[in-house]
Amino acid sequence: MKSPRDLPRIDELLGAAGDLAARYGKGAVTGALRESVERARSELLSGVDASVEVSTLVAGAAELLAARRPEALRPVINATGVVVHTNLGRAALSAEAVEAMTGAAGTCDLEYDLASGARGSRGARLAPLIAEASGAEDGMAVNNAAGALVLALAALAVGRPVLVSRGELVEIGGSFRLPDILAASGARLVEVGTTNRTRAGDYAAAIDRHPDAALILKVHPSNFQVSGFTESAEVDELAVLARARGLVLLHDVGSGLLGPSEHPWLAGEPDLRSSLSAGAHLVVCSGDKLLGGPQAGLIAGDAEPVGACRRHPLARALRLDKLRIAALQATLEAHLRGDRRAIPVWRMLDAEPAALELRAMALADACGPDARVADGESVVGGGSAPGAVIPTAVVRIACASPDRVARHLRHGEVAAVARVDDGALWLDPRTVDPADDTLLGELVRAALAAASTAAD
Ligand SMILES: *Cc1c(COP(=O)(O)O)cnc(C)c1O
Repeated sequence: MKSPRDLPRIDELLGAAGDLAARYGKGAVTGALRESVERARSELLSGVDASVEVSTLVAGAAELLAARRPEALRPVINATGVVVHTNLGRAALSAEAVEAMTGAAGTCDLEYDLASGARGSRGARLAPLIAEASGAEDGMAVNNAAGALVLALAALAVGRPVLVSRGELVEIGGSFRLPDILAASGARLVEVGTTNRTRAGDYAAAIDRHPDAALILKVHPSNFQVSGFTESAEVDELAVLARARGLVLLHDVGSGLLGPSEHPWLAGEPDLRSSLSAGAHLVVCSGDKLLGGPQAGLIAGDAEPVGACRRHPLARALRLDKLRIAALQATLEAHLRGDRRAIPVWRMLDAEPAALELRAMALADACGPDARVADGESVVGGGSAPGAVIPTAVVRIACASPDRVARHLRHGEVAAVARVDDGALWLDPRTVDPADDTLLGELVRAALAAASTAAD
């Protein structure tokens, strides 16, 4: 057995760890090599026959470094059938949005007017597009919908009562809890009605009790449904009340649907245009759900409340960077010219059943003899259209250990995520970019082969 005296010097190890130093930096590598050597030293001292080989010690350091430096974001093929998958980055961006981001990545005219050579406005590119897309007087965009709500409440209701139905005090995606958002903004929550039933008269009574109330907040409970004995006040009723009492009506519509949709599974989903024309003064929504753009929070509505949001100091803290402005502008322009096919979220939602079936058949062929085409259900996801399912064609692969195949798929050359259910692996072509179909077939075949041979 070797003794601690046989351990190589750090200099010697550094000489053999050139690749690591190029990747992680010399300081970090030196530290990791010291740890690797120390570990071997204490093992030897306690009687364990640890290796003193340079290659082993360098490999130990490489492991430590890899564990400390997380890997970069990797592209993932989404075969889950969840169109807006929050864990997979929500909306996939359009090619135009990606191109716009690349164009803005270097120095660009973000706040510079090239015509006059004078300072320009960061928000000026988006304001008219958001206004036009929603039918509002004015619009702006900030970091996300949570930020948009905090900003609107801080700008319009700080220190004053804000009325919210008890049925709309929602939690969305774990870290978004409406009462917390309200508290963070400095507004005071006044709960109205009950969990299952809140009428316009309940809001009127609450305003009587709180004559200094500033705002009625209506929130789309986007990720759950209540059924049975339920009632909620419509936007138009609340708009009449808000106007009569001099309050602002703010509607969080959530998903960023711009106008009413012809899809039956989006029937219950509120949209910006309808909400504003029903009388909401202000609407907020996410940029990366059904709008199909980058993470952002849109604010649209009457000029006065939007202006108050724009002038509030928090607007600076929540503002968008040039990359997301570029991507959001490209996404909104595609909506405005009616080119939904340019936007991946809408290409997925609008996919024809016949086209999906053909793709599923080709994918099943590529996946091997155990793959069959079956009827399935996609979902909108991202806290939109809860309970609604979209009929789709899926590939069902019966296999001994679908969990193991799914794991190999995640660890493949390109990562792919599928659904495991009912003892089978399910692939939904709706949420896969058609350009990835062939690759997905190859990845599944490889994962099936690896799962049947590997001893894991
Ligand atoms: C998703 C959602 C939010 C949160 O949106 P972010 O853009 O993720 O901040 C807020 N309200 C509703 C109704 C939502 O659906």
